[in-house]
Amino acid sequence: MVFDSQRTLAFVNTRLDRPTGLIDQLADRDAAAGWLAGELGYDSPISGRDHAALLELRDSARWILRARSAGLTPPPQDLDVVNAASVAAPRAEQLDGDWNSAVHFAASGSPDANNLTELLAGLASAVVNLAAASENLVECAADDCVVLFLRTDPRRRWHSKRCGNRVRAARSFARHRSGGPP
Ligand SMILES: [Zn+2]
Repeated sequence: MVFDSQRTLAFVNTRLDRPTGLIDQLADRDAAAGWLAGELGYDSPISGRDHAALLELRDSARWILRARSAGLTPPPQDLDVVNAASVAAPRAEQLDGDWNSAVHFAASGSPDANNLTELLAGLASAVVNLAAASENLVECAADDCVVLFLRTDPRRRWHSKRCGNRVRAARSFARHRSGGPP
């Protein structure tokens, strides 16, 4: 299992506190088990304790990455949660031929998707790397969207075409409205 930035962001974006309401893809144990199976190939049921650990890590990771995107200091209690989860499994940084580094678990040598502690450790470690390395982490600029994403182009302000189109459509509507009745 490789925890790249896309996967890490998908994890922190499972909770979106939108002005229009909260979206939480890990809201209960069934939803969380479904997300873990779909995204990470983890196919075991999860206990209440597992679920609480998952949410605690996700929420702390989100606070840290939001602080990073806003140029703020990371909250100490969230650093404690992520750093504690990160030490829980033996793992190794591996380099590939395109100069990308990724975390692999030394214990298994191959994806061990059925150890939740290892999965959480991998996610926590990926959050650490993303927060430390990325100056391009931003929150979507659309008013009703709070998705965190990596900006590949400095002019990019929206996480998706849909958000960009929605903002442009709203602006165009506002322009026409301010021009008086049609
Ligand atoms: Zn967006």
